[in-house]
Amino acid sequence: MNAFIDKMRRRAGRYLDVQPMTVRPARGVLSLSFDDIPASAWTEAGPILAEHGVLATYYVCGGLAGGRNMALPQFEVEHLQDLYEAGHEVGCHTYEHVSTLTLSPVELDASLARNAAWVAERLDGYEMQTFAYPFGDCARTAKPVIDSRFLCGRGVRDGVNVKTADRNLLQAVGLESRRLPGYDLEKLVEETAASKGWLIAYGHDVSDAPTPYGCRPEDLNRLIRLAKAADLDIQPVAAAWRLATAG
Ligand SMILES: [Zn+2]
Repeated sequence: MNAFIDKMRRRAGRYLDVQPMTVRPARGVLSLSFDDIPASAWTEAGPILAEHGVLATYYVCGGLAGGRNMALPQFEVEHLQDLYEAGHEVGCHTYEHVSTLTLSPVELDASLARNAAWVAERLDGYEMQTFAYPFGDCARTAKPVIDSRFLCGRGVRDGVNVKTADRNLLQAVGLESRRLPGYDLEKLVEETAASKGWLIAYGHDVSDAPTPYGCRPEDLNRLIRLAKAADLDIQPVAAAWRLATAG
């Protein structure tokens, strides 16, 4: 029964309280993002991003620092400081990595405030500008809370953001070994270029033996190469949001 109720609540979150944004960048945009931040999302992916000269968005939960999540070592504070100093965007993913379906708006706001304070203390007062929903779960009542604190919120529903999108629940494709075989990345990138859309990819660990939620270094390399070949502008989420809404 709970699974059914959660399904209905996810559906309500998807279709209700939509805050439309016009997606109109001068050319197609790709944003790369990493959730939770397993250590390898920085130690393995960081050098690949640097090699290509591109910046990504890292969605952090302060509560996961130095711990383990899904059997993987998570980032250390030093990793977060290094990636921030390298110019990558740090975004919010709640403090505890908790589904918004389980929180009242007041509880969600408190978790966001906790994460904001935790990050500001470690990144020189930095304020996060974008959000990613843990597990992709978006409660309808969470949307106004996200809207009040961030430029936009990102889910995990497949698709390219084209023409109009819900700014509190942007679509994204998974750089995840369980999902990658189902995509035609080349086509997604071409569609994004042709429609001047905004493609957001998200992943977790990056390793030659990734979890179902992670990808291999060559998957990340391939997506970046395809995006460059199609002349997509590769930008972190907050910068992409500004490009998408500038037109
Ligand atoms: Zn997550």
